[in-house]
Amino acid sequence: MGKIKVQGLKKSFGANQVLKGIDMEVQEGEVVCVIGPSGSGKSTFLRCINRLEDITAGTVVVDNSDINNPKTDINKVRENIGMVFQHFNLFPHFNVLRNIMFAPLELGKQTKEQARATALKLLDQVGLSDKADAYPSQLSGGQKQRVAIARALAMNPDIMLFDEPTSALDPEMVGEVLGVMNDLAREGMTMVIVTHEMGFAREVADRVIFMDGGYIVEEGPPEKVFGSPQHERTISFLEKVL
Ligand code: ADP
Ligand code: MG
Repeated sequence: MGKIKVQGLKKSFGANQVLKGIDMEVQEGEVVCVIGPSGSGKSTFLRCINRLEDITAGTVVVDNSDINNPKTDINKVRENIGMVFQHFNLFPHFNVLRNIMFAPLELGKQTKEQARATALKLLDQVGLSDKADAYPSQLSGGQKQRVAIARALAMNPDIMLFDEPTSALDPEMVGEVLGVMNDLAREGMTMVIVTHEMGFAREVADRVIFMDGGYIVEEGPPEKVFGSPQHERTISFLEKVL
């Protein structure tokens, strides 16, 4: 089943056309990694999937809802979409547990007891059971990002979007975050991941999308995109990053 269907997506910021016509579909349980040079429109594309950006043309359908239709309750759609950013955006004045409990409580989705139980379970899942009472400033980057993932999971989303989740981390912390993402992928989560971690993309993605200049230039299974890229721009990008 198509969880995300993007057709003819264009996005401009003023005179700057950043997305020039994107067509893409993500199936339930599929893991899609988006790669490409800086400025190619990867983040903008991801942000269009949960309407953090208003689009200029085209359609974005998530869980059968046209998210740019004014009749669509975007908050309801967003409850099913977890997003994790390069910079963790944790609430600095809340401890780890409160960070994870925040959205379900704020939106009245769970009682305090339920939210706490969910948060503790998620902390265990990301390997941070001992950090429930810590504040973000007391955590390493890798730990903060794992809390951010747990926080995104607290709403029990069925789609997770990741925008370069490991780019701000010291190298020794990249693995622990990718490990959590790998677990999620294996459990069948539908995921769209913008990443520079080519090894991870190669290993975990069902499909790799190479973007350049606001277009999808090439896509396919990782062994194909990495092993025998067809387009000059893909080849020259991979030469630089591999
Ligand atoms: P990537 O994630 O691939 O590096 P982005 O989607 O962040 O690329 O950016 C693509 C282009 O869109 C860049 O030229 C950037 O300056 C522009 N852009 C992104 N967000 C905004 C914004 N909020 N306002 C104006 N221009 C933006
Ligand atoms: Mg980006």
